[in-house]
Amino acid sequence: MPSRKFVEGEVVRGRWPGSSLYYEVEILSHDNKSQLYTVKYKDGTELELKESDIKERIILSTEDRYIVTQYSLRPRREEVKAKEIESEEQNLVTKGPAPLGTFQVTTPQRKDLEFGGVPGAVLIMLGLPACVLLLLLQCRQKDPGLLHFPPPLPALHELWEPRVCGVYLLWFFVQALFHLLPVGKVAEGTPLVDGRRLQYRLNGLYAFILTSAALGAAVFWGVELCYLYTHFLQLALAATGFSVLLSAYLYVRSLRAPREELSPASSGNAVYDFFIGRELNPRLGAFDLKFFCELRPGLIGWVVINLVMLLMEMKIQERAAPSLAMILVNSFQLLYVVDALWNEEALLTSMDIMHDGFGFMLAFGDLVWVPFTYSLQAFYLVSHPHDLSWPLASVIIALKLCGYVIFRCANSQKNAFRKNPTDPKLAHLKTIHTSTGKSLLVSGWWGFVRHPNYLGDLIMALAWSLPCGFNHLLPYFYIIYFTALLIHREARDEHQCRRKYGLAWEKYCQRVPYRIFPYIY
Ligand code: NDP
Repeated sequence: MPSRKFVEGEVVRGRWPGSSLYYEVEILSHDNKSQLYTVKYKDGTELELKESDIKERIILSTEDRYIVTQYSLRPRREEVKAKEIESEEQNLVTKGPAPLGTFQVTTPQRKDLEFGGVPGAVLIMLGLPACVLLLLLQCRQKDPGLLHFPPPLPALHELWEPRVCGVYLLWFFVQALFHLLPVGKVAEGTPLVDGRRLQYRLNGLYAFILTSAALGAAVFWGVELCYLYTHFLQLALAATGFSVLLSAYLYVRSLRAPREELSPASSGNAVYDFFIGRELNPRLGAFDLKFFCELRPGLIGWVVINLVMLLMEMKIQERAAPSLAMILVNSFQLLYVVDALWNEEALLTSMDIMHDGFGFMLAFGDLVWVPFTYSLQAFYLVSHPHDLSWPLASVIIALKLCGYVIFRCANSQKNAFRKNPTDPKLAHLKTIHTSTGKSLLVSGWWGFVRHPNYLGDLIMALAWSLPCGFNHLLPYFYIIYFTALLIHREARDEHQCRRKYGLAWEKYCQRVPYRIFPYIY
């Protein structure tokens, strides 16, 4: 008789189908033939689970046990009720035979769609490329003030040139080649719904160094980097076209992906899924497309664009050295990119990797939005010089460093805690347990506001815009957009954490009432 780990009547934690969440369950029976356990959740739901989806129970304090008991019932009841009403097809439980090692879940669960659902997704998909084009055209104007908006549209040949597409493809595939190099540590991602952990090669910083060396060599051999400036619009359009084609490929290939590899954000609606991404971790062999696009072609491309703008400023304004404003913008943003590449492993626990699929939203965001709109301050300074005094520059540098310290310390503290909650260096921090087995930090940076990393990021964003002066609103586009993005992102994360952690999250919110800005929001 095959051995089994759990016995009838035992109270353990069982994974909820289609998620990585564990709830308290009682073992009702075990089927020797299928090797499945029948378990009962607290709200009476019965499911069959395989052994690897069952964990031993964690012994909690009286206070936490109270939280768990209160919390774990609620979502289950709501979900079951909603499913009964919504569709008979969405049965979570089927007691018939199922392939070993799978949950017996039949169709995707219907859920609240983010970003305004299908209409929101359509608007974003049409609006963002138009927005990039308008921003770049506006920035090229002599007076980019609001009174001169919208800018005149350029002729078609200014938007499209096959050779520029070739340059863009070359860039993308060279970065892919660098990513494939067998250098750098290999890290494991967080567990997927089927318990697997994907492996990721962390060599972003090597790719950055190689790119810098290749660019240095290109300049040495007389390659004119100002080509990128004179063909900037065409380059942005080529990247946009590529991101649309990539999204189409990603959607089509996702139709063959098994259920357990779909993103928790996907909905079953073709338009929405094209936008949010259907497959969570699309891969070509070991090459992870989403992980690669998140930090490589776009982020490193942003630094290259900034450098080109610096060279163009010197050329157009006939300067022997770049302006102080340009040096600050370049170095602040370089620090941001190098920091992201240095801490590449932190990406593995980000919302983009764990929750969102890989579709238009991330493909366009990573490949077009980041390099072409985040470089707007440098682009602006090329033809709109601003003399920055040293005292003001010192204040801006102090602001940037202050933002960076908050951003880095908050991110590092959470990453260290998630990696090893018993790390002695974190022993002084207060935590609350949650029913999923994970805890939440309630002191230190995460006891200051609920998203200290966003606060630091926003302070840095302000420091990127200030060197451009106050003549126009355009260089402040980033901080305005980024504030809106992070407030929306915080709300999305809050929604997910509330679902994940229930009353434990409520308790965290009571203890740490402000979301991003202390005493304000
Ligand atoms: P976060 O790093 O903010 O992670 C949110 C997750 O952290 C939650 O889902 C939860 O996940 C965990 N968490 C929340 N509160 C606590 C707590 N008190 N204790 C322990 N864990 C907690 O996610 P993002 O991916 O949004 O941001 C990562 C970084 O990237 C940020 O610094 C952000 O500013 C930056 N960013 C930059 C962008 C740009 O364009 N420049 C765009 C988006 C983000 P769990 O409990 O499951 O671990």
